[in-house]
Amino acid sequence: MSNTYKQKYPLIWKKNNFYIKIFCSIPNIATGIILTTEQATFIVDPGDGILRDLNKDYSAKEILKISDIFISHGHHDHVGGVWSLLTYLSVMKKKTPLNIYFPKGCLEIESIYRSFHEVYSSELSYKINLKEIDNSKSIRRKDISIKPFKVNHREPSENNKTSFEVPSLGFKFKNNDKTICYGGDTAYCDELVKMAKGSDLAIIEAGAEDENESDLHLTIDQATQIGKTAKEYFLVHVPE
Ligand SMILES: [Zn+2]
Repeated sequence: MSNTYKQKYPLIWKKNNFYIKIFCSIPNIATGIILTTEQATFIVDPGDGILRDLNKDYSAKEILKISDIFISHGHHDHVGGVWSLLTYLSVMKKKTPLNIYFPKGCLEIESIYRSFHEVYSSELSYKINLKEIDNSKSIRRKDISIKPFKVNHREPSENNKTSFEVPSLGFKFKNNDKTICYGGDTAYCDELVKMAKGSDLAIIEAGAEDENESDLHLTIDQATQIGKTAKEYFLVHVPE
């Protein structure tokens, strides 16, 4: 049976100054998330359209405040907007450095950055720090601590008979005593269950077309069960 669940975007959640907006999260099309606090402006998974979405809500001056980008994995629907975002920040003369955190072994980000650097390095107005990360340590940026955790995201091989693992991470963001757990793309995994539990907000993918796909993505039932262990939850990445 295919899904009848439809998610409407954008999704917005706010507690005190801790704010997150999911502009969209549509499998094979695009994801795009902004997370802000009193001090921080982060982008998570800038898929295609991120610049257009940011431009609707924020001034150029506000967009220039983006200091950190977090990438859950390298699939095009999660990184398709990186090039245009990096270019825009330079065109608008960003001066402060930009950190891009991405899972160790994520070739897409390395390759986008390499090509970008080749074209623009002589005129780039700001410094880009590529930060290859794994789940071994937490990161502290501005007034947010970020705990990366390993998830289980696989991609079918060409013959569709086997699948291989995609370097991927979820992130738990903490500001003061509030936490947001973002699982990225993943099949059911204990680490996500553990991290989502008790979070103030859990953002859980429900990307499986049906039960047969549950080794690649979460089904609606699985995602709902995990989501319910958090105080609030959003289901995202639901096939349309
Ligand atoms: Zn993916």
